[in-house]
Amino acid sequence: MAGIDKQSKSVAELKAFLRERGVNTSIHRKESLIRLAEAATEIQLEPEEVENYHSDRQNRRTIKTPDGKKVIIPDIFSISDWNNNLITLPTVEMGDIFVYLMTTCMWSNDRLKSYKNDNGYQLYMQRHVDNVVMRTLNTDHLYIKCSCTPETKQKEKPYTTWILMDNKASIKSGGCTCVADDSSCKHCVAVLFALHEFTDHIKTEGLKSALTHLASGTDQGRV
Ligand SMILES: [Zn+2]
Repeated sequence: MAGIDKQSKSVAELKAFLRERGVNTSIHRKESLIRLAEAATEIQLEPEEVENYHSDRQNRRTIKTPDGKKVIIPDIFSISDWNNNLITLPTVEMGDIFVYLMTTCMWSNDRLKSYKNDNGYQLYMQRHVDNVVMRTLNTDHLYIKCSCTPETKQKEKPYTTWILMDNKASIKSGGCTCVADDSSCKHCVAVLFALHEFTDHIKTEGLKSALTHLASGTDQGRV
């Protein structure tokens, strides 16, 4: 309703406009509601959902440095020097993934038990994850960024999906350009399983074999 003539809105619409910006009012007089709505627009009061989304995005990028300070790391889109040499990636164990799925993604026990049926795992199995690159952030955290082809619209532009972890492979958060964009969308889940496969390959078969495995995809960075 910002920039729209508030005179043309009904009392109910004006109240809804205010309510979604955290202003609950028992006022019914239209004139007063219009004044409030205009004031809300003037001070650029955003709908709470939008605010929560932004603060969630910021929380996902907040890490603790080794000396205990909280630092907000840059958004993945403001980083340009990505590295496609994934050999230094820490080994992502299945345990790391399960801890993340339980604590951050809030998966139920039943969902965990049948993780192989989950959409995220299926996307990984069907090789939707590609173009994996990494970026070390400080001494103990790193970003992983990749593309993930949408499940049903495979001809459409892939999503950009990211994971934030520390150098012991504790998964901190993730994000995605899909509409869900939270730490638990199926694309984030697919990336985690793909990272497990690749880093496990390095551990069990050695760097050379992992590189060959890596190169066996169509693009460098396929895992
Ligand atoms: Zn996603």
